[in-house]
Amino acid sequence: MIDTQVAEIDLKIFQTKDWKSEIFGCPSCKEPLNADGDIMYCPSCQTVYQVDNGVPVLLSDQLKAPLFRQELPVKSYYLNERYDWTRDPKGLEYCYHHYRKWETWSALKKFLQPESLVLDVGCGTGLITGILSRNHYRTVALDLNRWALFQMNGKPYVAKAQADAESLPVQDESVDLVIATEVIEHLEEPGRTAEEMLRVTRPGGHIIGSVPNRHPLWNVRRQLSISCPGNEPFHRNFSRREIADLWQEAGCQAEISAICLGMNWLWIVNK
Ligand SMILES: [Zn+2]
Repeated sequence: MIDTQVAEIDLKIFQTKDWKSEIFGCPSCKEPLNADGDIMYCPSCQTVYQVDNGVPVLLSDQLKAPLFRQELPVKSYYLNERYDWTRDPKGLEYCYHHYRKWETWSALKKFLQPESLVLDVGCGTGLITGILSRNHYRTVALDLNRWALFQMNGKPYVAKAQADAESLPVQDESVDLVIATEVIEHLEEPGRTAEEMLRVTRPGGHIIGSVPNRHPLWNVRRQLSISCPGNEPFHRNFSRREIADLWQEAGCQAEISAICLGMNWLWIVNK
């Protein structure tokens, strides 16, 4: 159930011309968008985007049709997944994700200034966006899954949008820090997302993310966790070399370290 009062407040924040208008862009042509009532509009390619309960649907027409017809096995699954690892106190996953949250926060907070604009790509139910919000950092939180986005209703300093990680609805070089934790293992073409994250990062800005590695504990994840969905259509655990190559192919070097008791790689890219 969507809290309509909170959703209305979100919409009012969104309609005000402020920091969000300096970030959001057309997912197709990347030009700035105009906001007008319950739509957003791209003056450059003339595409109209709906704003539904305060959250804009910033998906290209090309992607939207097959996505909503459930024709894309991987993306259509994540459109509908119901998995809130920030709240389920029973699962082992809950402990793991909160530990991961603090390790990630300690790595990324040194790159933040009070005026930083942050982008959380594949934010889910707001594990990392939540801690940014509590510390008053202006954050654009993107996810394909609207249910996950609505779990964050009411968080201050957060602008949410339904979006695809491979086609970010964000203007070129508009963001100081891009975050993507536990996202690219769900993407069939992570190189496209790496290029998009580089495109939207300001010169001098940073990209930080994490991904499960080849630790043997991942093989028993489904037995150990009661909250992990067992029917994910695509999940790829990366080697250190694969993460280094991913960023090298995108045109930059990544600093890679192990976090979460050696179960995940954390990368830091300086643009
Ligand atoms: Zn456009």
